[in-house]
Amino acid sequence: MKVFNFSAGPSVLPEEVKLEVQKDFLDFNGSGMSVTELSHRGKVYEDIQVEAESLLRELMGISSDYEVLFLQGGGSTQFAMVPLNLSINKRADYVLTGNWANKAFEEASRYIDAYSAASSKDAKFTYIPDVDKISFRDNLDYVHITQNNTIFGTRYTKLPSVTCPIVADASSNILSEVIDVNKYGLIYAGAQKNIAPAGVTIVIIRKDLLERIPMSFCPTMLMYKTHAKEHSLYNTPPCFTIYMAMLTFRWLKKLGGVSEMQKINEEKAKKIYEYLDASSFFSNPVAKKDRSLMNIPFVTGNEELDAKFVKEASKNGLVSLKGHRILGGMRASIYNAMPMEGVDTLINFMKKFEMENK
Ligand SMILES: *Cc1c(COP(=O)(O)O)cnc(C)c1O
Repeated sequence: MKVFNFSAGPSVLPEEVKLEVQKDFLDFNGSGMSVTELSHRGKVYEDIQVEAESLLRELMGISSDYEVLFLQGGGSTQFAMVPLNLSINKRADYVLTGNWANKAFEEASRYIDAYSAASSKDAKFTYIPDVDKISFRDNLDYVHITQNNTIFGTRYTKLPSVTCPIVADASSNILSEVIDVNKYGLIYAGAQKNIAPAGVTIVIIRKDLLERIPMSFCPTMLMYKTHAKEHSLYNTPPCFTIYMAMLTFRWLKKLGGVSEMQKINEEKAKKIYEYLDASSFFSNPVAKKDRSLMNIPFVTGNEELDAKFVKEASKNGLVSLKGHRILGGMRASIYNAMPMEGVDTLINFMKKFEMENK
């Protein structure tokens, strides 16, 4: 059965990428081997990783002032690596906009004086605090933000203006919209939302930050330097995931790059929000200016109807629409690889469900 997968992560991948992987799986480029079997020290694999990095640099406009790293451990390991590697004064401010932001903050609090400079907890994380009104402390090592809040469906459209580096968790919005990398000190993202299967974590770090001395107890594997020095080949990288990331980058480039992707994403999200706002049956609680292009939570206001919706949608090939366990209701994650057809099919199904259950 053909399904549209609205999972928040791991999530939908481009059809073309999956077909390419299938075609190449047993014999990659005439090597007689699968990509999963190639030595990570060999030329065949090296070309893959080099192409992946150069495509990512091209797609995001990453200058030579930045190092691109392919690491493991997911976004969650970055919650520790950031404070372990970037501390000078052991002081950093966090903006708490949801579960992932809170986790990053709590992890940093184990090592440094981390401070919650602003939070949207007062309104159940349905908005992004006004960055111009936040008073950040002085002498900060960095300010940490969660650029797109996967669970609550919010996103930053503006960055705080601070003199210290901005560290951003872009796990669920990397490559979905144009960003100016030069405004950041460090950007990190797990691959499994917008790029590839789980397994690789992308870190884009400004080179001067690599000069900072990691905390004395920081494990070698958790030092950015270790991986920067060895071009992400200090130990065995997640080769297959990096290969799939490379294919996704090729796909995105062919489609016209991130600016073209952003237009499509805006169109997809707009269709759903317009329908939700016009509906007296479904609703989305997020402040309009802060709405995510990637993750759209919605409810009927009745838990039984929500459960019925998720079940019937699934029977109709619209899968993984159940909301996160802390929020309930529904959530449609419409990452880059979700085709317009999936969005249209979802809206038609919602209309039908509304009519039948109002
Ligand atoms: C999914 C997600 C994470 C956690 O990623 P893991 O790779 O599972 O550790 C962190 N931050 C955000 C914003 C996410 O969406």
